[in-house]
Amino acid sequence: MRYISTRGRAAPRDFEGVLLAGLAEDGGLFLPETWPALSTAEWRALRGLPYAELSARLIHPFCGDALPFEALRAMTGAAYARFGHPAVAPLIQLDHRTFALELFHGPTLAFKDLAMQLLGPLFDHALARRGERVTIVGATSGDTGSAAIEACRDREALDVVILHPLGRTSEVQRRQMTTVLSPNIRNFAVEGDFDTCQDLVKGMFNDAPFRTEQRLAAVNSINWARIAAQIPYYAYAALALGAPDRPVAFSVPTGNFGNVFAAWAARRMGLPVARLIVGANRNDILARFLAANDMSVRGVEASLSPSMDIQVSSNFERLLFELLDRDPAATEAQMLRFREEGRMPVPNAAWRRATTLFRGFTLDDDATLAEIRRLKDTAGYLADPHTAIGTAAARALAPEDPGVPVVVAATAHPAKFPDAVEKATGARPPLPPALADLYGREERYAVLAPDLAEVEAGVRAHTRRNVAA
Ligand SMILES: *Cc1c(COP(=O)(O)O)cnc(C)c1O
Repeated sequence: MRYISTRGRAAPRDFEGVLLAGLAEDGGLFLPETWPALSTAEWRALRGLPYAELSARLIHPFCGDALPFEALRAMTGAAYARFGHPAVAPLIQLDHRTFALELFHGPTLAFKDLAMQLLGPLFDHALARRGERVTIVGATSGDTGSAAIEACRDREALDVVILHPLGRTSEVQRRQMTTVLSPNIRNFAVEGDFDTCQDLVKGMFNDAPFRTEQRLAAVNSINWARIAAQIPYYAYAALALGAPDRPVAFSVPTGNFGNVFAAWAARRMGLPVARLIVGANRNDILARFLAANDMSVRGVEASLSPSMDIQVSSNFERLLFELLDRDPAATEAQMLRFREEGRMPVPNAAWRRATTLFRGFTLDDDATLAEIRRLKDTAGYLADPHTAIGTAAARALAPEDPGVPVVVAATAHPAKFPDAVEKATGARPPLPPALADLYGREERYAVLAPDLAEVEAGVRAHTRRNVAA
């Protein structure tokens, strides 16, 4: 299995190569040169498998010769054994046709654990084989950082630096990052918003000498391995509801477009997906794009669903490349224009193709609180604000055919956003026992200006100290 860049000017790599590289050298994102596809009979044969087994079978086609199946299966077995529910990703029925796919039973209580817990061992395996070490840098609006830190803490071959926007994450999210005092972990709080953090990370990757010197690697959702590791749960839910003999729809609270792109990839592999609903808070660029081909950046505004406070969704480039019939020059031209002008003139034919599958939905904070309350009243279900946007979107935009169930990606545990849930329902969701003392733990992080040179100096100081120690 070989991977190509969406901008067409990077050398193709194998799975291990894209795992370690993250972003391609030409600024593009890696995608499989050809998509693996399963026949109807092959999909049927996957019904009823335990999550770890299913995920190994669906991820392995993306690994090719880079990783033996047995090694991958050992990794998925160990990774998902750490989850707090025997189903790993249980499906909870909310009404006659809506289901919550709970993706928050991992160590940091958000869906990113499903991919990240696998990324840690994948990196270890690749680096041990090569006798190398790398510096992982990442930007987070909250959940990626803690999931990456939990997956990489105390791993020999990895140093980790995570940038988060100062004061823009929830306290639980911040503490899940800043209370990990392992010597290979460092947290920077950047004076800016998530896009500022993401730009700084891109800046480090685009600084070739720095990138080489530090052997930078990424665990943000631009890393292909993360997308690959998110495909299995869409299949798991769909198979449980009757796929491949019954189509399903998915509603995905969306920020960087990684999670919903994994659902798109599952469909590309042959899973019958009738509709993909993209949920947004007031940072609604994707919803505006889908409604009216208006892909234009506005300022990022803080909301009750901070993991979706994003304007520039980096994984959208992957869909764009596919919508443009995999034309790398056209993709690059669009992306460069988007960067310069803050708006992207997607050709009408490509936009129309997107809208045959995708629908966009926006919910403001007040309506999000009302939806959390409604779920508690009608189904006795406590949802976090991100998940609530997904359930509201599912109701508004379910396919006309009532035989199509709608699966909502429940992306965070309600205890991750206790203030919003308490405000909506009067009930404060308790943290699970493993995190019960989080508010009493010591925190460590540095506050930095949004300045590339300063951030690079901070990364150097961290990795030098680590190698010396
Ligand atoms: C990261 C995150 C999202 C957004 O996912 P993307 O893959 O970036 O679109 C949504 N909800 C929660 C709780 C998250 O942590």
